[in-house]
Amino acid sequence: MVIVLKENPNPQQVNRLKNWLAEMNIDIHTIVGTQSTVLGLVGDTSGVDIELIRALDIVEDVKRIQEPFKRANRKFHPLDTVITIGDTKIGGGNFTLMAGPCSVESREQILSIARDVAANGGHILRGGAFKPRTSPYAFQGLRGLGIELLIEARKETGLKIVTEIMDISQLELFNDVDIIQVGARNMQNFELLKELGKSRKPILLKRGLSSTIQELLMSAEYIMAGGNENVILCERGIRTFETATRNTLDLSCVPVLKETSHLPVVIDPSHAVGVARYVYSMSLAAAAAGSDGLIIEVHNDPAHAMCDGAQSITPEAFGGLASKLSELLPVVGKSIGKTQN
Ligand code: PEP
Ligand code: MN
Repeated sequence: MVIVLKENPNPQQVNRLKNWLAEMNIDIHTIVGTQSTVLGLVGDTSGVDIELIRALDIVEDVKRIQEPFKRANRKFHPLDTVITIGDTKIGGGNFTLMAGPCSVESREQILSIARDVAANGGHILRGGAFKPRTSPYAFQGLRGLGIELLIEARKETGLKIVTEIMDISQLELFNDVDIIQVGARNMQNFELLKELGKSRKPILLKRGLSSTIQELLMSAEYIMAGGNENVILCERGIRTFETATRNTLDLSCVPVLKETSHLPVVIDPSHAVGVARYVYSMSLAAAAAGSDGLIIEVHNDPAHAMCDGAQSITPEAFGGLASKLSELLPVVGKSIGKTQN
């Protein structure tokens, strides 16, 4: 349930209302907007008399939220969430470019790609240290060393870093990471999500291979229920009957998520299509559809990449894409800058 307060409500009356709700064991979230203040209520609100609240002087409107996701719901938080990491903002009018290799392979590799990503307008460096591979015989990642190398690349380039966690036991290694990624395969690892809810670090939550949009939002809700509101939703392609691409990029999730949630939405065209030459058009389409950013696999030597070389674009191609995006984004009211609000 959400209670929309009138402009400049009497603070004592607001406190009285909050205390009364708290006595019924209802959690209250106060969201102060430019025009009005919204009280988001979580808990068993079945005993709350809507008409009684609506009749209060300070109340403009009361709405029940039918959807099972509350904190992730736009009714709960009408304005876009903007996540700030230093000089980088994600959400709102900002368009964020995350790019880098599928996996951190070596010091030389990650530093070289990081320099290229920074020089070509990227904001955040991606790179897997813990890799969820279909085959146990495939490269599993450099693990702790991979994270150290990402940190070194950040120091040199100023890029923020995002990397995937696969298990709660790894959490301590992520203390100095800017954004923790939850991969598609772990989207419904609820114990992991609950643990990340205790952190205040931004979480990039990827949609599961066979998950619905509502299931993605329910996973975001798990993190937010623990108090961590810094969730970025990521569409990375879903399993369908189509085999021409690795997965099917569900770009229609962008308007759906933007309507139903206030959280930033980022698109991963690389894992969606699985083919480097399709990444450019899908990236432009994602920007045109209203997404808040992209996470793209970029490799300096795709033919010899230890993971996902076929879908990795070169630094030059990334530069070309970034420059085309900077022409396109103003059309949809977004900018690729670092310090927009
Ligand atoms: C990745 O981003 O490296 C990755 C493994 O992606 P996904 O979880 O979407 O498959
Ligand atoms: Mn990959």
